[in-house]
Amino acid sequence: MKVYLDAVSTTGVDEKVLETYKKLLDEYYCNSDALYDDGVAIYDMQEKARALIAGMLGVKKDELIFTAGASEANSLAIKGLALKHRDRKHLITSIYEHSSVYNSFRQLEEDFGFEVTYLDPDENGQITPVAVKEALRDDTLLVSIMHVNNEIGAINDVEEIAKIVKRHPGTYFHCDITQSLGKLDIDLANIDMASFSAHKIHGLKGSGALMKKQFVELLPLISGGQQEYSLRGGTSNALVNIVLARTLRIALENKEKYHDKLMELHDQLCEGLNDLVKINYASGLPTLINIDTPIPSEVLLNALNERGIMVSSKSTCGSRKNEVNRTLHAMGYDEDHAIRVSFDHTNTKEEIAYFIENLKEILDKYA
Ligand code: PMP
Repeated sequence: MKVYLDAVSTTGVDEKVLETYKKLLDEYYCNSDALYDDGVAIYDMQEKARALIAGMLGVKKDELIFTAGASEANSLAIKGLALKHRDRKHLITSIYEHSSVYNSFRQLEEDFGFEVTYLDPDENGQITPVAVKEALRDDTLLVSIMHVNNEIGAINDVEEIAKIVKRHPGTYFHCDITQSLGKLDIDLANIDMASFSAHKIHGLKGSGALMKKQFVELLPLISGGQQEYSLRGGTSNALVNIVLARTLRIALENKEKYHDKLMELHDQLCEGLNDLVKINYASGLPTLINIDTPIPSEVLLNALNERGIMVSSKSTCGSRKNEVNRTLHAMGYDEDHAIRVSFDHTNTKEEIAYFIENLKEILDKYA
């Protein structure tokens, strides 16, 4: 039996998304900027997809920039904004952002002379609106705080943070919504920029977007043609962009459809885990639980892997690096014993039971 419990890292492609993509691939391969009929047809479909996605997010069509995922969207939002507005030197983010956000800030700090305030999560794992308010300065250009943390699942009140930033002249608010899109509702009214990725919601890898309000000016990071409002040069990955609309529609439909099932899986998982391990964090996103195991996480991961069970000890983007894990460190959790278990609607009760059963056997053997 193979059991995948790492949905936070990535998800399988929804079969309807795959079907649409294959159909498009069979039919179209020309450049979406070509002026013959097929080129125009793809271009029109891409623009329709852009309008549909914008509509689902409650923003305008030309406020959506297709990217190759959330890392690119985060980089464009943060570095693109800072490099366009170099007169304001102060930036605010949190210590537990995804590496694409954190390293963008580090680069701005180390290579471009910006001053960055890194906020710590409070004892509930959250970056509070009060902490943001207190960190704001007259010369603050940007605040970037993620909606849901990808290692512990903590949910931040980013709508409230956005309101605070909105009242502060000359300061923009960016939010990484990669882990909340299709899972939690969010009102983007006061959010100036938001990044997300398709592969976290059963879409294709290398696909995502940056929502950027019309008044926000960015410096393009990829110079090139007129694609994506001249903010991202390069031949459009038009077919992938087209299926992103279908991906998001399905994810939003599934959010309601599978709500009860996900809560049941959450309860089953928590009940099983409570008897075996210490829970580090389970009060955020219901589909993500961070635990502290009595044996080193590496030993446990390997033992689970041998039994066909896939989980992670930390963010996959940092899994091959030997750096301190910023989230676990900030929360005071033992990095060498932490495991992240995450699931989605494609998982079953039988799979959760199999995981718990095997976890028990492994702990009995090694602990
Ligand atoms: N932000 C968060 C919160 C994430 O979890 C991830 C994926 N690990 C990313 C950004 C990066 O997404 P992508 O893989 O599409 O670049």
